[in-house]
Amino acid sequence: MDHNQLRALSAQLSYLREFSPWYRQRLREAGIGTAELPPAEIAALPRFDKHQHRLSQEASLRELGHPYGLHLCADPGSLRAVHATSGTSGMPTYYTFTEADLRTNDEAVAAGLAAAGVRPGDAVLHAYALSMFVGGVPWVRGIQALGAAALPIGAEGGTARLLQFATTIRPRVLCCTPSFAEHLIERAPQVAGVEVGELGIELLICGGEAGAGDPAVRAILENAYGAEVRDVQGGAWGHFAVSCEAQDGMHLVTPENVLLEALDPETGEPLPLEHGTIGNLALTSLRWEAGPVLRYDMADTARFLTEPCACGRPGLRYQLLGRTDDMIIVNGVNVHPSAVRDVVASFHPEVSGVIRVVVEGQEPRVSPPVDVQVEVGPGSGADGDLAARIEGRLRDALRFRARVEIVEPGSLGRSDHKTPLLLRTENTR
Ligand SMILES: [Zn+2]
Repeated sequence: MDHNQLRALSAQLSYLREFSPWYRQRLREAGIGTAELPPAEIAALPRFDKHQHRLSQEASLRELGHPYGLHLCADPGSLRAVHATSGTSGMPTYYTFTEADLRTNDEAVAAGLAAAGVRPGDAVLHAYALSMFVGGVPWVRGIQALGAAALPIGAEGGTARLLQFATTIRPRVLCCTPSFAEHLIERAPQVAGVEVGELGIELLICGGEAGAGDPAVRAILENAYGAEVRDVQGGAWGHFAVSCEAQDGMHLVTPENVLLEALDPETGEPLPLEHGTIGNLALTSLRWEAGPVLRYDMADTARFLTEPCACGRPGLRYQLLGRTDDMIIVNGVNVHPSAVRDVVASFHPEVSGVIRVVVEGQEPRVSPPVDVQVEVGPGSGADGDLAARIEGRLRDALRFRARVEIVEPGSLGRSDHKTPLLLRTENTR
């Protein structure tokens, strides 16, 4: 953390104390004083996660009559935007924006997209989910703030409509999840009679899930589209990170807005940020008005990179390894389905790159062999021992025993937005 971040953090903490009785109490309980924060006290900052976020919202709904959480520091009437997670279980978690927050975020998204290679005057096809998702409208605003033309089809617009705009307007840039970009490779010839490589897309900006940071997945996309691929994360609290031409993790573009940390997945304690540290990505907002967060566990496993990047840009970098909710533990070994997907993708074009890990029950701990369904590549005459070869490489790379089932191309159901990599079935045995 540099001096500017420390100063911004102290100012954010004063703001929390002033405008949220809930934060005032939490900071007092954590023993955080009101003077400028000495670096030694940072380790004592209280943590926050999705579960606490929901509890905070339930409490504010009960006590204050609004669902934005006790951590809301602004008057609900001063909100100008509310976004949310998809809410797979229970109440969605809300992200709130005041007028000033919109400005902070617009600038952050614009700066991040510019760092990714978007230029004023570009047409940018937007194919992330638009409804509520922070990669939706906040990104559209950022594209506009940058001086580019947003084409907000969204994942909800459907593949046919997206391809219609792509073939007529011929945007230079496409923003979508890596799984949707893969999905388009197969769908474009069927739906629009063109290969994605003929669309004229020069830059593919992929976020919303891990994937574009992996060399094998990126190679599939680069080859099919004939485009540069950038891995990104951001859209709320003025957070934006993007990979550079060196493709060695994502640079945090907005250290003035957010402080990132690695938390120990077992204890939740902050880990020393060294080159190669792996932990849960935690975000602290430094200049947010509506619903600021302290040490928010984003439920992403990340690898942090602190040594200088080959591109020469300074500052912290990190790489997403997968969602912590999806992680399974096989004989004591942590396995991210996204890592399984990355290993399988190295068999492209024998495989399509789409996989699904299937486990029984809801427990993180599963017994080997772990079932992995792998789509064969379209038109590839995969030989009989493909499954065995994939099993061998998974064992070598990830140290767990898999049972691979080869399935037809396109047979693993996928949404137009994010493809679930993990399927949990009911206990049947
Ligand atoms: Zn770089």
